[in-house]
Amino acid sequence: MSTEQYLLDTFTFTQQHETRTGQLAEEKLARAIEGLVPQRGQVFNWSASGSVDTTERRFIRLKVDGFMVLQCQRCLQDYEYPVVVDTIFEVVETEDELDEDEDDVEALDRVLASRNLDLFGLIEDEVILALPYIPRHDSCPSLPKALSVEDELVLETEKPNPFAVLGKLKKS
Ligand SMILES: [Zn+2]
Repeated sequence: MSTEQYLLDTFTFTQQHETRTGQLAEEKLARAIEGLVPQRGQVFNWSASGSVDTTERRFIRLKVDGFMVLQCQRCLQDYEYPVVVDTIFEVVETEDELDEDEDDVEALDRVLASRNLDLFGLIEDEVILALPYIPRHDSCPSLPKALSVEDELVLETEKPNPFAVLGKLKKS
């Protein structure tokens, strides 16, 4: 589905310090909204900018700004969760480099050099990564205090316990 607006040549984009900006409607992010509550026709603003340093390392910085409608797992109300992405990708030349020091949390994210890098896919991936595993209000707007404490306890015990899963496997 990616139109030309989303395709870029990583070499020229970084070499010429280009910037690209756009808006993306929620409904286009099919993978990101899959399984979520109905969205509100909101739009995500995004920008990508390229750079190259004196040692010829190339970078693409991707920013996305918007919100996603999620259902709070505590009070079951829908709420707008801010989605803010600011990620710097290093452009690498080989697949091997992509996987290098994968476990290093300090390492930058990487993308493979390409004449047709698909920004759309990158934006969608980053939006998905920005969503919480268990959506919850910081504090639910309409929940009596006593109930919210109780619910909190339920949520704690509902967390998947790896040993419990093992136990089940052994029994079957
Ligand atoms: Zn809530």
